[in-house]
Amino acid sequence: MKPFDYIQAPSITDACIAAAEHSPAKFLAGGTDLLIELRRGNGNYPRSVVDISFLHELRGIEATPDGLIRIGPLTTHSELSSSALLRKNASFLSSAASTIGSPQIRNRGTVGGNVMNSAACADTVPPLIALGASVTLQSVEGRRTITLSDFFIGPYKNIARGDELLTSISFSPLPSVCRSSFVKLGRRNALSISRLSVAAVLGYDRDGRIADARIVPGSAFPVWRRAREAEQMLLGEEPSDKLFTAAGKRVSEAMVSYTGRRWSTEYKEAVITILVRRALEMCGRG
Ligand SMILES: Cc1cc2nc3c(=O)[nH]c(=O)nc-3n(C[C@H](O)[C@H](O)[C@H](O)COP(=O)(O)OP(=O)(O)OC[C@H]3O[C@@H](n4cnc5c(N)ncnc54)[C@H](O)[C@@H]3O)c2cc1C
Repeated sequence: MKPFDYIQAPSITDACIAAAEHSPAKFLAGGTDLLIELRRGNGNYPRSVVDISFLHELRGIEATPDGLIRIGPLTTHSELSSSALLRKNASFLSSAASTIGSPQIRNRGTVGGNVMNSAACADTVPPLIALGASVTLQSVEGRRTITLSDFFIGPYKNIARGDELLTSISFSPLPSVCRSSFVKLGRRNALSISRLSVAAVLGYDRDGRIADARIVPGSAFPVWRRAREAEQMLLGEEPSDKLFTAAGKRVSEAMVSYTGRRWSTEYKEAVITILVRRALEMCGRG
């Protein structure tokens, strides 16, 4: 590992000041991505590492007085998986977190690190996009809140500056008429990075027709996006195997039109169709 300054921040303000004064800096949360990056030693190697892992104010999941759910960025994947609040209001986020790595990785890795690392296979991101989540970033210059769907600009790339600390992730709970699901395909069952994943939400009206549809594939598009083409064809329809398969095909066509045909396309276009169908089936029949 090449040398860097290690700074332990006693508060959010100190962390922001340290990142600005010792630039280029990297924040250290659970370290499950950052330590690998530092060991590799390539890319934009930081001059300093600002340890935020002791900042308790950045932990936890809570319902806010204005009806949102707020997650602190240092909340671990294990905490997301076992949260009763999330199980009730956004169960697919809990499910996604429970598929990440191994128990050790889930106990150490954080949702903030998963979002900020911005890997195409980051498992918490598809449910967060489907929830319409926003992230709040803080620096010595102030605070800004951005919708997650406007945050990512490519694999491992987002619009945060190096001195901006992610301080919260928030979203509206899913309406009680909605059901959600997360499915993931990896090379093996455990300790597996997603080759493809799908987060889905379906909500039904009184007649059992689909009134809310959200589909966000992971590792499929250059940047995460809702598969609006497929969502549209579900609205107002009664759920059926045929409809869910057609929606899967629509996502597959959209993926190919965005990425073009590559070595992996033959495999991915068939598999994404099935994963979307499966995710929609898991959302139930109303
Ligand atoms: C064996 C193994 C298996 C894994 N399996 C999976 C998997 O199945 N699915 C999956 O999605 N991921 C997986 N990961 C990746 C990793 O565990 C997650 O991305 C994790 O959530 C990162 O969180 P962290 O706290 O460890 O982040 P860190 O490594 O501490 O940080 C990651 C990046 O985010 C930045 N950062 C962290 N917190 C903040 C903040 N609050 N504000 C600003 N920047 C911040 C850091 O500076 C760094 O650039 C795996 C990793 C390993 C080693």
